[in-house]
Amino acid sequence: MVGAGFGGLEVVRGLKRADVDTVLVDRHNYHLFTPLLYQVASSLLDPSEIARPARTMLRRIANVDVRVGSVTRVDLDTQQVQTENGPLEYDYLVLASGSINNFFGNDQLSQAAFGLKDLGQALALRNQVLWQFERASWSGDPQERRRLLTFVIVGGGPTGVEYAGALSELVALVLRKDFPYLDMAEVRVVLVELTDGLLAGFAPRLSKAAVRTLRRKGIELMLGVAAKDYTGGVLRLSNGQDLAVDTIVWTAGVRAAPLDPGLGALSVRQDRLRVQPTLQLDGHPQVFVVGDLAGMVQDGQPLPMMIPAAQQEGRHVAKNIKRLIRQEPLLPFRYRDPGMMATIGRNSGVAQVGPFRFSGFIGWVIWLGFHLLKVVSFRNRLVILIAWAVDYLFYDRPVRLITGPSPPPGRGL
Ligand SMILES: Cc1cc2nc3c(=O)[nH]c(=O)nc-3n(C[C@H](O)[C@H](O)[C@H](O)COP(=O)(O)OP(=O)(O)OC[C@H]3O[C@@H](n4cnc5c(N)ncnc54)[C@H](O)[C@@H]3O)c2cc1C
Repeated sequence: MVGAGFGGLEVVRGLKRADVDTVLVDRHNYHLFTPLLYQVASSLLDPSEIARPARTMLRRIANVDVRVGSVTRVDLDTQQVQTENGPLEYDYLVLASGSINNFFGNDQLSQAAFGLKDLGQALALRNQVLWQFERASWSGDPQERRRLLTFVIVGGGPTGVEYAGALSELVALVLRKDFPYLDMAEVRVVLVELTDGLLAGFAPRLSKAAVRTLRRKGIELMLGVAAKDYTGGVLRLSNGQDLAVDTIVWTAGVRAAPLDPGLGALSVRQDRLRVQPTLQLDGHPQVFVVGDLAGMVQDGQPLPMMIPAAQQEGRHVAKNIKRLIRQEPLLPFRYRDPGMMATIGRNSGVAQVGPFRFSGFIGWVIWLGFHLLKVVSFRNRLVILIAWAVDYLFYDRPVRLITGPSPPPGRGL
């Protein structure tokens, strides 16, 4: 089993009473609750509040052996997985390595931009934003301060929208008090989105509500605009505009996490692997694929790279592996869409659940309640609730320590 993410954990749990020995390999020793990652990047939460060691989560499951290490190759012919710590042999293999940033081949941007896909990237971004304010406080040059205090977010999906909202509030409600001698009117938060609207996939009414809310928060929206390239500290946009900026946050695209270049031949759109309706890898019935890595198509549409899809697929694969062992026919997978939601800073969110659409305060409350329930442990739930309450009532974010060296731009993947 490769990957202790949302899909992988469901496979392991689904197999806990089966007559199998599961080896779970992940390059990190924790499971990450990605929906709150932007809150780590915007100084509201600490990493330990949104991630939990995989060993702790799975210690009650007797038939799983957790190993930390990176998978570097998958040899389908010899049924071996190569890791940086040595090979592992398998009878059945489940691949659930998730996804990474997609810069669509733009090397300059991939070198320069900060990603928001894992804890390391979120912390690097948090440090960068805080450093930019520290640097600006030393600068007597208004032009330089403008560059230091310009933050461009590329991509108007849920991650870009949520981070933009959280960053603008960090500036307006918290850093304003930390830096009384800085003129906050010099700070620019710019959100660049290629299409004409935000939150593609949400109902048009909700995506318009997101536009209104972000504008109200002072975020400059550039819709129908693409980030072209970045050289010499200048971001060139498709509308001909140039922005002098140090901090670019890339949330504009993802692609499946590559495990082995050899699997490339089996990939479809966004490098996801081609699977049968049973979630078996095309031509390799011993191998299953779940989550962002699985190129599952339903009713002609690829399934979304989202948690419910990964979890449902994970549970289904566990069932199918048990059927395979019992030599019963495998069942095709069918995705049930539970809805989507996103938050846009305090008091504002959007949620669509079945035929229902919510925006504004109600959308925000639904988002808060749902995510609090989903966080991985009771302790984390409690700590997060306190952090949110302190932020809400006292306009204070607890985690404003710069804990690493000033990170060089260029979080790459
Ligand atoms: C910032 C952010 C916010 C998001 N918000 C939401 C949301 O609100 N709602 C929602 O539904 N979805 C959200 N998503 C998407 C969601 O996180 C993914 O769809 C989901 O995590 C996919 O599950 P997965 O099991 O395929 O992969 P993941 O959960 O990403 O797990 C993959 C695992 O594989 C491991 N791995 C990768 N490569 C290797 C390797 N070579 N060797 C060993 N281990 C490896 C990784 O360390 C990771 O633990 C968000 C994603 C991000 C980045």
